[in-house]
Amino acid sequence: MSKSERIFKEAVEVMPGGVNSPVRAFASVGGTPRFIKSANGAKIVDVDENEYIDYIGSWGPMILGHNNIEIKNAVKEAVENGLSFGAATQIEVEMAKLICDIVPSIEMVRMVNSGTEAVMSAIRVARGYTKKDKIIKFEGCYHGHCDAMLVKAGSGLMTDGIPDSAGVPKGCAMDTLTAKYNNIDSVKELFENNKDNIAAVIIEPVAANMGVVTPKENFLKQLRELCDKYNSLLIFDEVITGFRLGLDGAQGLYSITPDLTTFGKIVGAGMPVGAYGGKKEIMKCVSPVGSVYQAGTLSGNPIAMSAGICQLRILLENKHIYDNINAKGEMLRKGMKEILIKHSLPYQVTGVGSLSCLLFTEKSVIDYETAKTSDTKMFAKYFNEMLKQGIYLAPSQFEAIFMSNAHTDEMIEKTLYAMDKAFNII
Ligand SMILES: *Cc1c(COP(=O)(O)O)cnc(C)c1O
Repeated sequence: MSKSERIFKEAVEVMPGGVNSPVRAFASVGGTPRFIKSANGAKIVDVDENEYIDYIGSWGPMILGHNNIEIKNAVKEAVENGLSFGAATQIEVEMAKLICDIVPSIEMVRMVNSGTEAVMSAIRVARGYTKKDKIIKFEGCYHGHCDAMLVKAGSGLMTDGIPDSAGVPKGCAMDTLTAKYNNIDSVKELFENNKDNIAAVIIEPVAANMGVVTPKENFLKQLRELCDKYNSLLIFDEVITGFRLGLDGAQGLYSITPDLTTFGKIVGAGMPVGAYGGKKEIMKCVSPVGSVYQAGTLSGNPIAMSAGICQLRILLENKHIYDNINAKGEMLRKGMKEILIKHSLPYQVTGVGSLSCLLFTEKSVIDYETAKTSDTKMFAKYFNEMLKQGIYLAPSQFEAIFMSNAHTDEMIEKTLYAMDKAFNII
């Protein structure tokens, strides 16, 4: 029995499924989750000393690679002064200024502790500001695990085959309307039927929790226009795309200005951090200035801020990093497409920039319906063959392949070689 297997046996006795977040479990791919001991650059090592090329990158934050020396030093320096004060600190102001400088649509920002919290708060602000209740979300988009957003919510739920979570009172989900991704008519219809009641439309501008699905030309622009027409707010959930698809995220890439934006993952460089922000007029609704209450004992934690700020500064001062990771993403996608052709497989390679996905379906993936046609059993076989060869992919068909600046061309070639071999076997 491997050490991971031994630890997992203990884990399931004291933790639901042996994990603190469901996608970490290998439920949909079979086998035992690897317990990770350390990571450096693009490599990750488990407790049995197996080394893998890692394509999860802590689900996005490790855009520079694991264990970056500058970030580590920034954290060490911050730790010297104490872990948390529960009082205002200058470093929080630095973080806020940095985000406002980097992302033009953000004039004011509030730090929180996770992406879920950022979304939950942004929705409350949208409702408070517009004095309307209903929210439009898209099937297959994940916005964290708050009650109102657990409706047709992508990866974790798709993988487990649970359509919606138990324990969500009907009342909580009642004001959540779902539209189809890349289908503007489905949004129009909801607006027409709920004319004065839509507080906001929330969307992952690139959907990265049902595989990676890019927005059709003009789709985001049309959403912006509909929100303006009906006096509703447009919220971009950039928890995955923020600071990844460019410094100013998907909104920069597609030139759309949302009213509110949510961040998570990358903004904390691996520490538990989230943020939401937008126009001053809207953010002034937040307590203690405005009447929308939102608080957090550990929000803006100095250690977390030091890590996040350090990473954002590196990205700001080295914009070529985006060219690098985008080129590596493109190299991987091109290589994967060639291998599919070689093996006469009809699967889909999707993605943009440093986010990629291989979906096991012959259908072109544009929304939740088409993503769902993926052969998850085939993915499970593929996942396990790749793992055996030292390639650590997300243990779900519906998660992205995250490229970091630490991945080398040789590692990508090794990954493609492993993929070729895997398709000879499965
Ligand atoms: C991960 C994710 C969230 C939730 O963030 P947590 O930090 O896990 O709470 C929200 N939205 C999107 C798009 C995400 O990918």
